[in-house]
Amino acid sequence: MATDTPSRRTKIVATLGPATDAPGMLEKILTEGVNVVRLNLSHGQADDHRARAAAVRKAAEKVGREVGILADLQGPKIRVERFANGPVELRDGDPFVLDCRSDAPPGDNTRVGVSYLGLPRDVEAGDVLLLDDGLVALTVLEVAGSEIRCKVLIGGRLSDRKGLNRQGGGLSVDALSEKDKADIKLAAEIGADFLAVSFVRSAADMDLARRLLKEAGGNASLVAKIERADAIPVLGEIIDASDVVMVARGDLGVEIGDAELPGLQKKIIRETVQRNRAVITATQMLQSMVRSPIPTRAEVLDVANAVIDGTDAVMLSEESAAGAHPDKAVAALRRICLGAERQFEPKEDLTKNAHHLDRTDQAIALAAMLLASEIGVRAIVALTESGATAQWLSRYRSAVPIYALSPFDDARRRMLVLRDVQPVKFTHDTLNPAVSAREAVRQLFTAGKLAEGDRVVLTHGDHIGKGGGTNTLKLLSVGADGVVESLRDL
Ligand code: PGA
Ligand code: MN
Repeated sequence: MATDTPSRRTKIVATLGPATDAPGMLEKILTEGVNVVRLNLSHGQADDHRARAAAVRKAAEKVGREVGILADLQGPKIRVERFANGPVELRDGDPFVLDCRSDAPPGDNTRVGVSYLGLPRDVEAGDVLLLDDGLVALTVLEVAGSEIRCKVLIGGRLSDRKGLNRQGGGLSVDALSEKDKADIKLAAEIGADFLAVSFVRSAADMDLARRLLKEAGGNASLVAKIERADAIPVLGEIIDASDVVMVARGDLGVEIGDAELPGLQKKIIRETVQRNRAVITATQMLQSMVRSPIPTRAEVLDVANAVIDGTDAVMLSEESAAGAHPDKAVAALRRICLGAERQFEPKEDLTKNAHHLDRTDQAIALAAMLLASEIGVRAIVALTESGATAQWLSRYRSAVPIYALSPFDDARRRMLVLRDVQPVKFTHDTLNPAVSAREAVRQLFTAGKLAEGDRVVLTHGDHIGKGGGTNTLKLLSVGADGVVESLRDL
């Protein structure tokens, strides 16, 4: 048996920001285990993101790790505009006006402008509007032309450009703003591996983003951020229209109420995996580590529970982008994921998935996982061009590592979000798949990932160099010096 340190199955996404711009910090967080970095397009200018993307590729090269880049669109987040003299203090019961004119003057403690001028059409008396993730709340008394007259329900401090949500959702603003459309081009230009669409309401929102991305020449995987109440009734359609789903607990919690989050997180993860897509669990996973060098016990349990729920990846936001200890936060995620994976043995009745089969590569993936769980193998090896087979394989949760061998850099990076999958660079010297299969196993042996006596399940297609053609499953064993042998007796 190979004796390398146990490999982590759950993937780590970390948001970049001023804290990761510190000299050497990018290299540090990559070494600590970040698989995908997130560029938050809600902040900063295009040139900042270009520079960060270039720095990431350079740092990845330097530390010898493959890293995916996720460009996260701001989306139509509704915000209050600026105040004339800095933050204001709102007191319970005070009147407060949202001024939805394009030329609203800077605000004070009686009124402020709003970024979405259509808001008066979408709200009515009795609605509750939540500002700054619910830290301040207003009750709508009446809508008068472009003025929304409110009473402060929960007072507090309100500063420039804070977010605004309606409790229960239902605001009709378009999913892609003009800025988002420009940022899709930016994502294509910097070669982003993932593009996240914020405040998705429907499958059509994802279809539009996919079309614009394609027109801009991008080939990123599309991430649907589930953060609006309106997305929940059409969750299945949104998942089907996406490659990856994000449980965006920040805004989602504001719209649906925090007590609904645990149930919804489990439902979104379960449904996404069942529909053969990957899922990222995000926001406030280690919030206290923005300041503290260690997480709270509650945070440890939260991360571990997301792993046990079956998430593919966990994400850091402010903890890495603007925190005091980005590297320690990544190290904590790695440690907690490993612990949860060790203590929790996924046991799945694989045969129950058989009726979902509608593709050959998917059928081969299921057969490979059944075999792996029945006879016990050290690894599953997939010769995959696009990564499709690796994705099917990883949807059947098992504790067996899946080595996904592909010659294509971008395909390997798009696999970095998949639980259990370890993408490996592999170039074929031959068009003979049987020979390629043996070379693949030998390469993993040489890299120390397989050892003499290990058994593996291997999948490939008939035609090397063609995507989506996996139709073959093999059982092999590793002999002395990495010589590959067919397995006769189980
Ligand atoms: P954000 O999305 O960080 O872009 O707001 C995540 C969330 O709302 O949880
Ligand atoms: Mn959000």
